[in-house]
Amino acid sequence: MFEERKKRTEISELGEFKLIDLLTNDIKNKQSSTITGIGDDAAILQFKADEQILVSTDLLVEGVHFNLSYAPLMHLGYKAAIVNFSDMAAMNATPTQITVGLALSNRFSLEAVQELYAGFKLACEKYNVDLVGGDTTSSTSGLMISVNVIGKAKKEKITKRSGAKQGDLLVTTGDLGAAYAGLLLLERERKVFEETPGVQPEFSGFEYLLERQLKPEARMDVVRKLAEIELVPTSMIDISDGLASEILHLCKHSKLGCHLYEEKIPMDPLTNQVADMFEIHPATLALSGGEDYELLMTIKQEDYEKIKDHAAFIIIGHMMDEGTGAQMINAIDQAIPIRAQGWDGLKNQDKK
Ligand code: ADP
Ligand code: MG
Repeated sequence: MFEERKKRTEISELGEFKLIDLLTNDIKNKQSSTITGIGDDAAILQFKADEQILVSTDLLVEGVHFNLSYAPLMHLGYKAAIVNFSDMAAMNATPTQITVGLALSNRFSLEAVQELYAGFKLACEKYNVDLVGGDTTSSTSGLMISVNVIGKAKKEKITKRSGAKQGDLLVTTGDLGAAYAGLLLLERERKVFEETPGVQPEFSGFEYLLERQLKPEARMDVVRKLAEIELVPTSMIDISDGLASEILHLCKHSKLGCHLYEEKIPMDPLTNQVADMFEIHPATLALSGGEDYELLMTIKQEDYEKIKDHAAFIIIGHMMDEGTGAQMINAIDQAIPIRAQGWDGLKNQDKK
């Protein structure tokens, strides 16, 4: 594996404090709200009076959320930060700081943890977020990564899951199902490799799907676009568990139903190709596959003019009364109730 090609420094030789120092000594804070970052018992932050503060956490566990045999550590660090930034984007907020909790087994060398941190630092650099603290401990089993994110937004801009109204347009921001299609390819190649060690994985032509799975981005560009066109969605959520599950969240919290048009769901041709290869109905990849980290929002019909010329806003349906329920209208005009299968459902279905 790539870690073993390089020099290997045992963490046990360094001790916790030296490790933290080696990981964090080049971190420089950029946000004006960061008064003191890493080094003391707690970071000190100060926000402007007209800003509300948002906080969220995501915990990633080896074997549950990632598999180190195909997720390089740098990508993993990057993704662990991005999924948290995406939660801020979903609130129409801006991430400003993260803290990182790590549980490491002795399988990991200093060089491996530095690789992970290179991912965190790259994400923080790109999204202008400060890494202001964390905790480091040993683990007897796998790797665990817990990231806390802090963000800010003006009160009147914050978008919750609950604000949608009947008649609002249902809008997403990019193609769906690609991250899960990428995962299907990675899993398949891992199995081939286990059976025939030494064979090279065959991914050529499908790089986009692997990137969607291994190196997702948070749609902060959409948050900035919303500010620019002076649009506040009535509700918003990020698509981490699959379109079906997220639509149901918006419906439930807003006490509404919806019509989603299957033909309007944006899908990359490569995702459709993988759906064919694995004999899965293409829309299922978008509905039940996760980790696309696009945004799903509802906007008032009168705001249509504001979005109509921007490619980042794709109308896929509209909100109905609660009695209608959440339905998908397919190509032959049949209404199919939307159910949340999510990841696990899809995995079980694969086995059949
Ligand atoms: P404490 O004993 O109070 O938990 P630590 O010795 O664990 O303090 O941490 C010292 C400083 O290093 C703190 O500012 C903490 O936020 C920071 N820190 C610890 N682990 C990490 C990490 N994995 N990433 C970033 N900062 C960390
Ligand atoms: Mg500590």
